[in-house]
Amino acid sequence: MRPIPVNEPLLADRELEYVVECVRTGWVSSAGAFITKFEQEWADYCGRKYGVAVCNGTAALQAACAALKLEPGDEVIIPTFTIISCALAIVYAGAVPVVVDSDPLTWTMDVKQLAAKVTPKTKAIMAVHIYGHPVDMDPLLNVADRYGLAVIEDAAEAHGAQYLTGRETDKPGWKRAGSFGKMSCFSFYANKLITTGEGGMVLTDDLNLADKVRSLGNLCFGPVQRFRHEELGHNFRMTNVQAALGLAQIERIDEIIERKRSVAEEYTRGFQGLPSLQLPAEESWARSVYWMYGIVLSDDTEMNAVHLASELLRRGIETRPFFLGMHEQPVLKRLGLFPGVACPVAERLHRKGLYLPSGLGLTKAQLWKVVAAVRDALSK
Ligand SMILES: *Cc1c(COP(=O)(O)O)cnc(C)c1O
Repeated sequence: MRPIPVNEPLLADRELEYVVECVRTGWVSSAGAFITKFEQEWADYCGRKYGVAVCNGTAALQAACAALKLEPGDEVIIPTFTIISCALAIVYAGAVPVVVDSDPLTWTMDVKQLAAKVTPKTKAIMAVHIYGHPVDMDPLLNVADRYGLAVIEDAAEAHGAQYLTGRETDKPGWKRAGSFGKMSCFSFYANKLITTGEGGMVLTDDLNLADKVRSLGNLCFGPVQRFRHEELGHNFRMTNVQAALGLAQIERIDEIIERKRSVAEEYTRGFQGLPSLQLPAEESWARSVYWMYGIVLSDDTEMNAVHLASELLRRGIETRPFFLGMHEQPVLKRLGLFPGVACPVAERLHRKGLYLPSGLGLTKAQLWKVVAAVRDALSK
């Protein structure tokens, strides 16, 4: 029998209707009305002025980093516990990624360690919301302000997540992930909360930056003579068909978030009283969208994530291991990055953490089968 998958997208009638419209009208390339609509609606939803759709989330990060005009040797601070796309975007822009360890509760960047990583070469901070839980943005933005650093937000796992800004002031307010910093980046890969199959977007409030990102992702065609190029560009364009899918999903975003939150709530209920498991946290200043439901084995048990994953697979449950920190990536270390860097929290998360089936298509019966399998595997 096929195991319960970690993710299955949930597509509906509206997606079909819009995609059929693309096929019927012949608007299947990156020219087409769904693109601009998708860009505007997603920017509006996140509380931003401009959106530039691209072909995937990695390309969004690459375009955003390229738009910062980094010089060789410039440094950009990232959490070590993230996907390699973050580090790649910096390396491809000719700059140097510098890593910060994770907060043991939320698994996002430990912002208390941020200021100590700033050097005269630091130009930017990449804020990554991990598994749907926002980074603690206020302290991060304070460090950025103090040292004049640009902030790029990677909200690829946090569509619709919210963060309470100004919690220590008399005017706190909730803001959406993707509304902070100079630019924010999203992925719309099939396992993200909003999907276009493959896809991504850069949001910003700065028209010049939006133009710059659009140009970088569209081969830097000349504004006067189209085929006269002044800069090295990329083809990062999204198609109208992808945008059609995305637009249909934005209409259902509240329902999608609701569903993710209820999956998390139910898992958390199912795992009550298991001392050997750390469950996803939600800080009082955060509204997580629980992109993936992660669990971390406690140090008291000898079992590690690889062992638990194989025990679960035997019981018909697919899982994914947690990220391997950037400072432990062979390919990055071979570039001479992160010499002697240790990040004990992220190293432990990698050894002890994995995530469970969390897709929108997950049924209640499947979820409770997962709970039973985890309990059974841990009791052995
Ligand atoms: C998925 C993801 C990306 C990359 O997106 P792709 O569309 O797969 O290229 C970037 N950052 C984070 C945090 C992600 O989870």
